[in-house]
Amino acid sequence: MHNECPVCKASFNPEPGFYFGALFVSYAFTVAIMVAVWLALYVLANPPDWVYATALVLGAVLFSPISFRLSRVLWLYWFGGHRSNS
Ligand SMILES: [Zn+2]
Repeated sequence: MHNECPVCKASFNPEPGFYFGALFVSYAFTVAIMVAVWLALYVLANPPDWVYATALVLGAVLFSPISFRLSRVLWLYWFGGHRSNS
């Protein structure tokens, strides 16, 4: 990750612990993924419980790298004072 935006030089680390709040965004993403996986399984197959549990954990783990980055980006855009238009 860059220390500052290559375009507008805005800091990507405005203060220590800035990204702590991004965990709440990440949590929301994880809940959304789990609900989506559960709903898809329920509608399409309605498998035994262990399949639900395995698929939910697998979905959350596989999605975690995307969730981690996306939640930080959103947090930075919401609270980091960075604007996409120059
Ligand atoms: Zn920028």
